[in-house]
Amino acid sequence: MDTKNLGFDSKLIHAGDFHDEKGSAVTPIYQTSTFVFKNAQHGADLFAGKEKGYIYTRIGNPTIEALEDKLAALENGYRGIALASGMAAVTTAYLAFLSAGSHIVSTGAVYGPSRGVMESHFAKFGVEYTYIDTSDLNAIEKAIRPNTKMLYLETPANPTISLTDIEEACKIAHKHNVIVVVDNTFSSPYLQKPLDFGADVVLHSLTKFINGHADIVGGALIAKDEEVYKNLRKTMIYMGGNMDPHQAYLVARGVKTLSLRLDRAQESAMKIAEYLETHPKIEWIKYPGLESFEQHDLAKKQMSGFGSMMSFELKGGHKAGTTLMDNVKLSTLAVSLGGVETLIQHPASMTHAGVPENERLEAGITDGLVRYSVGIENVEDLIADLEQALEKI
Ligand SMILES: *Cc1c(COP(=O)(O)O)cnc(C)c1O
Repeated sequence: MDTKNLGFDSKLIHAGDFHDEKGSAVTPIYQTSTFVFKNAQHGADLFAGKEKGYIYTRIGNPTIEALEDKLAALENGYRGIALASGMAAVTTAYLAFLSAGSHIVSTGAVYGPSRGVMESHFAKFGVEYTYIDTSDLNAIEKAIRPNTKMLYLETPANPTISLTDIEEACKIAHKHNVIVVVDNTFSSPYLQKPLDFGADVVLHSLTKFINGHADIVGGALIAKDEEVYKNLRKTMIYMGGNMDPHQAYLVARGVKTLSLRLDRAQESAMKIAEYLETHPKIEWIKYPGLESFEQHDLAKKQMSGFGSMMSFELKGGHKAGTTLMDNVKLSTLAVSLGGVETLIQHPASMTHAGVPENERLEAGITDGLVRYSVGIENVEDLIADLEQALEKI
C-alpha cells in the first residue's frame, strides 16, 4: 500500500504491510531460511538481480522486508535494514564506513557498548576515535581531522539526556565530507526524524520504544539514499547480523501503537518530572520538557515531544540510589527503556559500575543519578510509588 501521503499514525499501521495471496489481514511470518526457484532461469535471474524476489533469509525475507519498509517510511528514509540487535546495527554501520586509518568523532555519553566495541575491536584494525561532548558544536568542528569519515551522534544521549543539534552538526560534518549516523533510539521517529535534519543514516535499538513491549531485542539502520543503503545492506549480509522473521513480526506488531504509547508515556513523564523537580530529596532533574532543562529550546526545535526518559540526582549519592532501587514496587528495577512498563535503574551501581570513577563522573554519571523510563501505568500510581520509596532515603 502506498502510504507516502498519509499521516504518521496511518504509516504506523499500514506502511510496508501486505496481504498475501491467501488473504491474511496482517503480514504473515515467513519462517523459512530459503526460497524455492521456479526453474534454473529464475534462480539465475534472482542472483543476477534481474528479477525481484527472495533467495535466502539472511539476504532478504518478506516479513523482515515489510518491517524494513515500515521503518523507512516512519523515518522518511530511502530504505531500511532490520538487524538482530541494536549493537548489530552499530557494528554494521561502523564496518560499512570505517577502515584502517579512518577516524570517527562521536558523542562522549554514547551508549556504552557503541563506544566499547570501537575502543576494544575497531581500534585493533586501526580505526581512530575521538569522544567529545557533541552538544558543543565548536567541539565537533575542532575534532574533525582530514581522515574523519563518520560523525556518530546520540541525542538525547544516555543517561545524561544531553542533546545535540542534529541540523547544525550535519552542516559541519558535510562541509568536511563526513557521513552522519544518528542513534535515534531515545526519541523514536515519532518524536524526532534525523534524516529530515540532514543525517545520512538513522540507527535504532528496536528493543526500546519501537517494539515497546520489552519482549525482543532488535536493531535497524535507515539510509537516506541508495548509495548509503547499498553499502549498509552488503555489510549486513556479510556480517550476518540479520533479523529473524518471527522477531520482525513482533516488532511490526509492537510498533503499531508507538504514538499511542508515547503520547501517554510523555504526558505522565511531564507530571512526574514536575513532581520530582520540587521534591526535597532530589538535587536536580533532567527532562527535556522542563523549562529548567538547559537545552529545552533545542528540544522544541528538533523534537515534536519530550519523550518519556528522565534522569535525576538524589541527595545522598550512591547509598540513596541503592535505597531507592530496593524500595520501588511498581517501577521495575531493570535496565533497558521505552517499554510499556516503567523501568528504573541506578547507573553508578549497575550499567556504569565498571567504568573508572573519574571517567564516569566526567561523563556526567554521578553517584546518585537515577534513570527513569516512564511507561503507561496510571501516573498517580507511579508518583505514589516514587513517594513511598523516596521516604525511605
Ligand atoms: C539499547 C541501546 C542500544 C543497543 O541496542 P541492543 O538492542 O541492546 O543491541 C544502542 N543504542 C541505544 C541508545 C540503546 O539504548
